[in-house]
Amino acid sequence: MKNFLKSKIGNCYKFFFDYHETLTVFLFHEVTDNPSNYQKRDKIFHRKKEFIDIISWIENNYNIINPNKFHNSKKKNALITFDDGFKGIFDFAIPHLIKKKISSISFLNFRPIIKQEPNIVATVQFLRDNNLNFMNFMKENNLGENVHLEITPNLFKSFIFNNKKIDLDQIIIDQGKIVDYETLKNFSDNEYVLFGNHMYEHWNSAKLSDEEFEYYFKKNNYELLNFSNNINFYAFPFGILRKNFSNNFCPERLFVFNNGVNYNYNEKILDRIYIRNVKDVKDIFYYNILRSKIKKKFNL
Ligand SMILES: [Zn+2]
Repeated sequence: MKNFLKSKIGNCYKFFFDYHETLTVFLFHEVTDNPSNYQKRDKIFHRKKEFIDIISWIENNYNIINPNKFHNSKKKNALITFDDGFKGIFDFAIPHLIKKKISSISFLNFRPIIKQEPNIVATVQFLRDNNLNFMNFMKENNLGENVHLEITPNLFKSFIFNNKKIDLDQIIIDQGKIVDYETLKNFSDNEYVLFGNHMYEHWNSAKLSDEEFEYYFKKNNYELLNFSNNINFYAFPFGILRKNFSNNFCPERLFVFNNGVNYNYNEKILDRIYIRNVKDVKDIFYYNILRSKIKKKFNL
């Protein structure tokens, strides 16, 4: 792609590729050579070698920023983020970044971490595929295949009330391990590691009542305050924006997920992208340089 462009635009090549003013926020979930069923099903893992290659490419082609230092530089910037606190991120991915002096933010849900129980997404997906009572419950409540996006705390409580014998250990195996509290503590004074808010449990925040949203957000914030490396950034679970906030809800930055690049990274709401491999990163890189150039030229 790069050579193709070079041949087409000739001397303008340098002009095109010198233009940098964007922020690309990369989203990862788990880095492991032994993915769980859930990680394979939802395609939320990278193999270690692939992660190393992706990071090298990002490092060579972007200015990777420290999340504490957002500032307007005329560079093509990148931010590395991890969601959901999977174990391999802390066993492998973050130690790899620390060695390279690269900062990252991990957006955490503290309920699964503290209780060492599966998160709500892995739980309802497992029940959807394996539990007859839950299948009936879904029918009765008109819950579709994407039950993890539709389930609410009250609905789930009503199911658990009548189905107390759920094998959480089996669901954890299906999900894959989440980091434990002690391991998190070991990273809390590292200058390259930051922890952000992903809500106390991984509910779809657009489905919660105002009270529920405030409760789960604040409960997680309260836990984050036990870590000196907490940052007042909030990543919406599933990247789905909740439109109504109360005045008490005031993170410095909000992260959504529409697979887009940010052309003004002073915006409060920032988009993130999920890439599968190095080829994806390259495609996004060249596509967005051209797009930002076109935007600027035509004032789009
Ligand atoms: Zn998440």
